Amino acid sequence: MSGKDRVKVAVRVRPFSKREEDAGSRCVVSMGPNTTTIMDPRSQQVRTFTFDYSYWSHSGFLRNKEGLFVPEEPGGRYADQSSVFQDLGQAILENALQGYNATLLAYGQTGSGKSYSMVGYGPNKGLVPTLCERLFQAVKVNQDTCQFQVFFSMLEIYNEQVNIHIFKSETLGPRSGGGLKVREDQQRGFYVEGLRRVACKSGAQVERMMEQGTRTRTTAATHLNASSSRSHMLITLQLKQVLLLITKESTINLVDLAGSERQRTSGSEADRLKEGTAINLSLTTLGNVISSLADAALGKRVVHIPYRDSVITKLLQPALGGNSRTIMVATLSPADMCYEESLSTLRYAERAK
Ligand code: ADP
Repeated sequence: MSGKDRVKVAVRVRPFSKREEDAGSRCVVSMGPNTTTIMDPRSQQVRTFTFDYSYWSHSGFLRNKEGLFVPEEPGGRYADQSSVFQDLGQAILENALQGYNATLLAYGQTGSGKSYSMVGYGPNKGLVPTLCERLFQAVKVNQDTCQFQVFFSMLEIYNEQVNIHIFKSETLGPRSGGGLKVREDQQRGFYVEGLRRVACKSGAQVERMMEQGTRTRTTAATHLNASSSRSHMLITLQLKQVLLLITKESTINLVDLAGSERQRTSGSEADRLKEGTAINLSLTTLGNVISSLADAALGKRVVHIPYRDSVITKLLQPALGGNSRTIMVATLSPADMCYEESLSTLRYAERAK
């Protein structure tokens, strides 16, 4: 894999939401095959960014007050879930089967389409379930010659603390509140103490666990009067293959990041500060790590990669950098009312290149 293949960035624009439609929003985004352009609705100033992929939504009849809005020169592709998988997920799957690690990240403001891209809704399955389904298909095809084991785990990072909800190891025993410890070990690197890995036999089993994990996460957030959009969700698939006497192990991290918007919460001022600082810390650190890795992949000299500065980068470290593949999907609203957030998402994604 060449350096420039190690880090790929895709931008995906969702259709107008009902609220944007009702407010008579205008579309401020336009696309070329590899470029995304955004226009400041006040000054009309335009900025163009270059990415590996630019996607309009397939169902993307972007409406405005006058009716149907279809970009005159759509430039970018009208991509449905399966074409996004073809571009981004397939490479991760092939990589993992070859024994390499990968990290797939969804970044963007709340409501911009991170969950749609990662998990999907109803029949529009996202990258994670499709990846799992294809992974188990590959396992089946090769099972006569190769022995496979697939392990699943899932955790949430909120305020720089790790919550594992249903994935608690039985050996951990009851604990008094608070998050779990991230420890470091010479061999394993960083790991979460007491996190349970579940051996999986099918894509359907993984999907069930994902659903259960997501439900528990949402309920826990509701109890705390918080929103799951303020935490990062990390799903890890570990693949172990034994072929003759050779063992290959690979890790795939699938990350639905906390909403990138400037934080407004209903909690107290102190809570809000703590939460906002934690989210900013991890998103900034992650941006710095990916940007250093992208520089290194292009052959630039990089002195220090700040993995240790946040929990998320510690946990992603084994599958970020080196021979790993990193893919970021940056999700946007097309609407003028989201201009500031969309611009900041594009800037963040651009640093990854
Ligand atoms: P987030 O996870 O970033 O908070 P969601 O993924 O929940 O946002 O998306 C918000 C809404 O927009 C959902 O109703 C979702 O179905 C819709 N949506 C997002 N992306 C797309 C897309 N590419 N095509 C069609 N609908 C989308």
